[in-house]
Amino acid sequence: MTRWVEGRVVEKRRWSEQLCSLRFEAPVAPFRAGQFTRVALDIDAERVARPYSYVNAPDERPLEIYFIEVPHGPLTQHLADLEPGETLWVAEQANGFFTLDEVPASEQLWLLATGTALGVYLSILKTEEPWRRYERIVLVHAVRTVSELTYRDTIEALQREHAGQFVFVPVVSREQTPYTLQGRIPDMIEDGRLEARAGLPLDPARSQLMLCGNPGMVKDTTEALEARGFTKNRRREPGQITTEKYW
Ligand code: FAD
Repeated sequence: MTRWVEGRVVEKRRWSEQLCSLRFEAPVAPFRAGQFTRVALDIDAERVARPYSYVNAPDERPLEIYFIEVPHGPLTQHLADLEPGETLWVAEQANGFFTLDEVPASEQLWLLATGTALGVYLSILKTEEPWRRYERIVLVHAVRTVSELTYRDTIEALQREHAGQFVFVPVVSREQTPYTLQGRIPDMIEDGRLEARAGLPLDPARSQLMLCGNPGMVKDTTEALEARGFTKNRRREPGQITTEKYW
């Protein structure tokens, strides 16, 4: 049974018509960067709950989630209407194994996200651990349009703070710009464009990868990596591919 605590919205950021971040205060238990909580609203006398990755680092407050308003989505169409001062339910305990505890040591850490899955990596990157454990870190954010390239201020701060160690690769599928790659992550692994842009070779002996978001991206990217000799990371059989699907 989920133990719910009441949260109060302190800030809402509307990035676009569909993309939204909520910051809220709630008395939750400690969690690890990369874990998700559950957020709920009581709608028509029923508690409607969904999992959301924390965007804030574990020691950072307010708490924050980043989500897309899914048309007719049972929760998100209401979640996106919340305003500062209003309340929501938050699971006291976070869950999940998409954390650096589960990722073996290596030279490079590649963090591949579609859409709102960017948030989980921001939580991880705001902690010291990845910068201590990996020599090079590549963050890949794949979206449909340039307007969906959100949290640029946070990413630019990471670039300034970790110059030389950190590479950000924005990928846009439906628009072309001089500073973004166009296409899909698995195709860019197959044709070498992702490595060329990051300036790093993908190598099972040197690279760990975390994949999060759209299940199609997770599946196709896993296959593209397996064709290059990478294997899924399992507790009993460590590999290089650690995944989390959002639906
Ligand atoms: P639902 O009935 O839950 O979903 C309806 C449909 O919307 C899905 O079948 C799928 O086609 C689509 N959909 C769901 N999530 C997304 C998405 N993120 N992007 C694009 N399409 C989607 N969502 C977030 O936006 N941010 C998060 O941080 C996040 N963390 C998650 C962590 C975990 C472990 C899991 C399993 C899911 C996570 N999700 C996240 C998805 C989230 O729980 C909801 O499914 C989503 O917000 C839609 O809720 P809904 O009730 O409106 O519609």
